[in-house]
This record gives sequence, structure tokens and C-alpha cells, in this order.
Amino acid sequence: MSDAHSNDATAPRKLIIAIDGPAGAGKSTIASRLARKLGYVNLESGAMYRALALKAIDRDASFDDEAALLKLAENARIQLEPTIGGNRTLLDGRDVSARIRERDVSEGASRVSVHPKVREWMVARQREMGAGGGVVMEGRDIGTQVFPDADLKIFLDADPVVREQRRMEQHKIKGEVAANVAADLRERDRRDRTRAASPLVAAADAVVINSSSMSEDEVLGRAEQLVQEKCNR
Ligand code: C5P
Repeated sequence: MSDAHSNDATAPRKLIIAIDGPAGAGKSTIASRLARKLGYVNLESGAMYRALALKAIDRDASFDDEAALLKLAENARIQLEPTIGGNRTLLDGRDVSARIRERDVSEGASRVSVHPKVREWMVARQREMGAGGGVVMEGRDIGTQVFPDADLKIFLDADPVVREQRRMEQHKIKGEVAANVAADLRERDRRDRTRAASPLVAAADAVVINSSSMSEDEVLGRAEQLVQEKCNR
């Protein structure tokens, strides 16, 4: 009996897919849906910066102290656990998935991520995690730094107003809290794009998708089409 995928020579190659872009562009949703469709693992690199920021908060370390942050990172056990119901993040064995989405940690993640030594440490861990392929890794520097040879690079963008709007809808917030969220998003964006170490830019060979006037399903469809094109080559 013949089975097209019964041996390694004919089995589909497991790709490394990088999805980068600014906050609120829809990366997490698309990355997790795409990974599920392909039977791949979805790794959220931002959760690692968030976990480190949380560790800094817990230990009273300054977000500006690069040496202290590096030491905290080196002594931290940060695990990304993709599960069917969503991704879990463990810090030193503790499930911090919900805590790392809070406002103080979001700001902290944006600030710890400016330090070159912290980034170097993160990039090395992320390379280890994704090396085997079969991953959709999302972040800000996956296509430029972590996997410059990724099989497929998508830069998912959306207009700032649209991104702010989506974030507010996501958190079902209005009024003053919404204004804070919009301001936070803008500030994190500014920091990501202007930092000296690995600023947020689209890799030269990334496919840019501006999702401003696209539905989630349309973006997913486009991503799947790009994967298909890679697999057919
Ligand atoms: O993606 P997420 O919003 O969870 O990332 C949190 C923060 O971590 C971002 O605001 C960004 O500053 C930083 N980050 C980064 N490089 C990555 C992923 C996230 O600098 N690859």
C-alpha cells in the first residue's frame, strides 16, 4: 500500500514561519490559527520578554538595569507551552499566562526588550526552540534576527487607528481606560521602532500584509496561500 507521507523523503518539510509586526496588528490570532491548521507549534516570543519583565517586577529590579536583567534571565526558567486552548507561559514553574498580559508587565516588556544583551539571550533561546521547524514564531525581530533564513516571513501591519480600535474591542473597554490603552500601544510602538537594538522593521524578503481592511479569515487565507506557495516550490 502506498502512502505519500509514509517516509521522511516524501513527508512535507516542516517550515519555520516568522510573523512580525507592531502590537495590535493581529499577529497572535493569525499565528495561532495558522499553526493549528498546519499542525505546527505557535511560539509567542513576546511572552518571553513579558515573563522577564514580571520577574524584574517580582524582584524589584529596574527595567533600565541591563546587567541585572540579564542575570535574572539567565536564572529564569521561561517555558512556552502551546496548548489547544491557547498558549501557556510558565515562569520558574508558575503559570503566569494571565499575569503577563497586565498593564505593568506590558510596559515592562517593552522596556526590558531595548537592551542588546537581553535580546541576545532571548534570540538564542528562541533559536533553540524553533530550530526543528514546524513552528510559527511571532514577534518583532523573528524574520530579521531570530530566523533570518526562515522559510516564510510575514510582516503583519495595520494602520495605527485600526490597531488601537482592535485592542479596545479585544478588551471590551471604553472611556478613560481605552484612552490609556491607546496611549500605551502608541508608546510601545514608538519604543519598538526607534530602539537601537533590532528595531521593528520588515525584513527585506518579508511579505507585507496590511490587515487594516481585511477580516481575520482573509488574513489567514492569505497566510495559508503563502505557505502553500512555499511548499509547492
Ligand atoms: O508581542 P507582545 O506585545 O506580547 O510583546 C511584548 C513586548 O516585547 C513588545 O512590546 C516588544 O517591545 C517586545 N518584543 C520584542 N521582540 C520580540 C517580541 C516582543 O522586542 N520578538
